[in-house]
Amino acid sequence: MRLFGIRGGVYPHDRKSLAANAPVAVLALPPLLHIPLQQHIGNPAAPAVRRGQLVAKGELIAHSQGAVSAPVHASTSGRIMGIGSFPAHHPSGLSAPTITLRPDGEDRWHQDIEGVPDPFALEADEIAARVAAAGIVGLGGATFPSAVKLNLRRKYKLHTLVINAAECEPYLTCDDRLMREQAPEVVDGIRIIAHALGVSRVLIGIEANKPEALAAMGEAARPFAEIQVVRLPTRYPMGSEKHLVQALTGQETPARGLTADIGVVVHNGATAFAVHEAIRLGRPLVSRVITVSGGAIARPANLRVPFGTPIQWIIDHCGGFKVEPARLVSGGPMMGQPLPSTRVPTIKGANGILALTAEETRTREPGPCIRCASCVFACPCGLLPLEMANHTRAGNLEGAVKLGLMDCVGCGSCSYVCPAHIPLVRYFNYAKGEMAARGRAKQKQTETKRLAEQRSARIEAIQIAKREAMAARRKAAAATKAPLAAEGPSEHRAEPPSKPRSEARDRAGGDV
Ligand code: SF4
Ligand code: SF4
Repeated sequence: MRLFGIRGGVYPHDRKSLAANAPVAVLALPPLLHIPLQQHIGNPAAPAVRRGQLVAKGELIAHSQGAVSAPVHASTSGRIMGIGSFPAHHPSGLSAPTITLRPDGEDRWHQDIEGVPDPFALEADEIAARVAAAGIVGLGGATFPSAVKLNLRRKYKLHTLVINAAECEPYLTCDDRLMREQAPEVVDGIRIIAHALGVSRVLIGIEANKPEALAAMGEAARPFAEIQVVRLPTRYPMGSEKHLVQALTGQETPARGLTADIGVVVHNGATAFAVHEAIRLGRPLVSRVITVSGGAIARPANLRVPFGTPIQWIIDHCGGFKVEPARLVSGGPMMGQPLPSTRVPTIKGANGILALTAEETRTREPGPCIRCASCVFACPCGLLPLEMANHTRAGNLEGAVKLGLMDCVGCGSCSYVCPAHIPLVRYFNYAKGEMAARGRAKQKQTETKRLAEQRSARIEAIQIAKREAMAARRKAAAATKAPLAAEGPSEHRAEPPSKPRSEARDRAGGDV
């Protein structure tokens, strides 16, 4: 199949050989699982259990909260030990709402879990509803609820499903191993997604550095004419959604638009496996395959890990550290986030844990920009990283936005090639975070103003209503007195209170 060119990109040493030959092993359960309620984009899930309650594996423990949210299920059977806060799987290390579960060792699935023998007889809405109920989110790291993407068919005219199995980040081999070991299940999930989207064409993109995965997926997809397995050049960031779509279809996604705007929906290979499990077996998403690697890890591995497992438990399973790591990363080395500690639990979006040595991190003191333009050539989005960084450093974030800051995919290619070791992507991540915070503050201000205006309008309306009611009462009172005034002599009209006063005296037996 013909591939289309994409801009920029870099060729980092992939270091996948550290873990690529380690088959997926199932990790033993830790003494306690700390299951975060926010493992997805959107609102955190709301607890559906109480302290002390016994739960089965796959049982709902927290409800989704809104359209862009996802429910959370028990990663194993056991007892709920607490509902509170625990350090989050986030660079800040701040605590987040978490349910703590003590495994009972039985790992017993919930009795109501039941699959569908023929998913292709289901309506698209039914598949999307089951995917939503299973708590499936994009497992490539974006953690966007997958059912929302399935429902894009309601709004867009879709024709192609692209499966992102490029796995272009160095070190990571979890998708590679999943495709090598469970290709028929991954392909089944892909077909279910394609059926739900109503598309007639499926392109599975896999980088050339995974020959076994290419062969296994090609074999599993052979009976299905609508599916093509495509060998992609090994080039970072081939797995960036918009660039992958461009490489496979030649179509460019509009700036700040969705791939659905050009009729394409992208899902990750591991997400497709989760869809297979949810629809065929009725199993919610309670674990995933992750890669544990890096020069500081004694025994790099690919492990199926229940969500909520502490990172330290995983590192201990891999023989601990050979040397003190210079950096602990969640995800890949290019786009991953620093891990604040080994206490934090695993989550749906974490596809790797890397313990990198000082040599691997290439941390050096940044020097002055020599205006070599290497960052410009490396940027897959056609941006001017050096100029955006200058604006950001000067605090002129609007200037950086004008240069395309919001189109930056945060791939880190610019930082990777910079001979002056300027941490360009860190500037852009900071600037995007700051712009998002400003946007939220502005939205809050607008909302506060709107509520204040609504309140003033309400008070004004009440006052008007009161004034009108008083006027109406006065008018009614005047109307009842008017006939009396017309019948009696003029002096009676001048002394209206005299009648009640004399009535009172009559009742009291006084002089008349
Ligand atoms: S790569 Fe680094 S040194 Fe070269 S122009 Fe960009 S910021 Fe400057
Ligand atoms: S991090 Fe942003 S600016 Fe740098 S290369 Fe990637 S897309 Fe371009």
